[in-house]
Amino acid sequence: MIVLKTPAEISIMQDNGRLLARILSALCEEVQPGRSTLFFDEMAESLIREAGGVPSFKGYSGYPATINASINEEVVHGIPSSERKLEEGDVFSIDIGLVREGLHVDMATTVAVGQIDDIAQRMMDVGERSLWEGIEQVKIGNRLSDISHAIGSYVEMAGFYVVKEYVGHGIGKDLHEDPQIPNYGPPGHGVRLRPGMALAIEPMIKIDSMATQVQADHWTVVTGSGGLSVHFEHTIVLTENGAVVVTLGGDEKA
Ligand code: MG
Repeated sequence: MIVLKTPAEISIMQDNGRLLARILSALCEEVQPGRSTLFFDEMAESLIREAGGVPSFKGYSGYPATINASINEEVVHGIPSSERKLEEGDVFSIDIGLVREGLHVDMATTVAVGQIDDIAQRMMDVGERSLWEGIEQVKIGNRLSDISHAIGSYVEMAGFYVVKEYVGHGIGKDLHEDPQIPNYGPPGHGVRLRPGMALAIEPMIKIDSMATQVQADHWTVVTGSGGLSVHFEHTIVLTENGAVVVTLGGDEKA
């Protein structure tokens, strides 16, 4: 069941989104070789709590941390650790969510650690652009799979693959609400988009077509080939006046 948000709830989600965007941006500024993924997790949790929020992921289905810290072949759900250190040339994906005044927001980005090679840079560009291709389809009257198709076809044309096992989602009082939003498929299917919907759109892009695998920690998802993966996510609310990307910090552009 899709829960529509009231204007008052949308306003809270906008405040939360601005806070989360600022926090993620602060984390990204600290990215450098030698830092542990736990460093970013501890920083994220303290910034979220200082902002009056609570980490959305911590304790969710038993997840032990504030962020997903996923490096290179790790797609998502990487568990932060003091032993896992960033290295020059890595691509580092941070997925983060907060809940404040009863409403969640969720976002992710992938950043370069120092100098990265051309293919990694191209994947990051394609991954981020594919998210915006999806966001452009968040319009009153469009169908849900118009978002999926825009993302999937863009990624495919660019020569990469979308992760099919994990999907975007509705968001609000719960971190994961209906509807599910796959990052592939034909357009013109699914529910019609209407004002009050809040969607977390999150393409995960990889270099190979193989199925992902979950590691022995039961959380960390890795690509089938061990090749690179990137992840970008925004929370978007559809209003009578169109889509509002609530997790924008001011330095991103559509
Ligand atoms: Mg999400």
